[in-house]
Amino acid sequence: MPSIAPTERIRIVLARPSHTGNIGAAARAMKTMGFADLRLVAPRHAPDAQAAALAAGAADVLEAARIADRLEEALAGTVLAAGFSARTRDLSHPLRALRDAAPELLARAQEGPVALVFGNETSGLSNEELGHCAMQVAIPANPAYGSLNLAAAVQVACYELASAAGRFAVGEAGEREAATSEDVEALVAHWESAMRESGYLDPARPGRLMERLRRLVARAGLERAEVKFLRGMLAAFEARMRR
Ligand code: SAH
Repeated sequence: MPSIAPTERIRIVLARPSHTGNIGAAARAMKTMGFADLRLVAPRHAPDAQAAALAAGAADVLEAARIADRLEEALAGTVLAAGFSARTRDLSHPLRALRDAAPELLARAQEGPVALVFGNETSGLSNEELGHCAMQVAIPANPAYGSLNLAAAVQVACYELASAAGRFAVGEAGEREAATSEDVEALVAHWESAMRESGYLDPARPGRLMERLRRLVARAGLERAEVKFLRGMLAAFEARMRR
């Protein structure tokens, strides 16, 4: 697997989009997966309030979108253009399934920008437009109705590339970091001393109190942040007892 493709190396190109809402939704789809380079080829309307509404938190991607008159312009500087279309054509490249093509697209992105080209909502990519692409990619879908909404197709494409690059993981933010054995030991010791100080634990007759507490703590599978707040609570009780 190639190393992570730099974000700016994947370019999303929308050829002749009709609905500005789709442009905004595509910008949002891109940003959620970590992509930012959006190009519009001869959009029917420039991005407007409807586009901004659907872009939501991806206003930066939408505002940075560059508009070109022709597809060739939008593809300038790319090392590969992949045309997204579910339809097989007479004169075209073999149809590749997105998931199979993703590693190759990422590998090529190590060399330079790779464009993912999407067609008009009604007519799709024209043969002329596909002619500028070196690869045709399909999102496998229901044979009885496999035509995704434009922004939905952009979302699936960006998701597959981000996944293939191993880009994001659930809980990556580190909020759910598990407590270490040292954290847990320190918590149990803190708990014990607070219980002694309060008189709840009588050192002369400890019973199985500490054993029970250890079992409970072990079963809870505490996170670091949880250990922290429990110890904060104990410290507050201690401070009150000492007043
Ligand atoms: N009616 C058009 C589909 C337009 S959907 C047609 O038959 O081609 C708008 C764009 O979304 C398409 O041009 C294509 O780029 C993308 N898209 C939608 N569904 C897709 C699929 N299953 N596979 C690949 N691209 C798809």
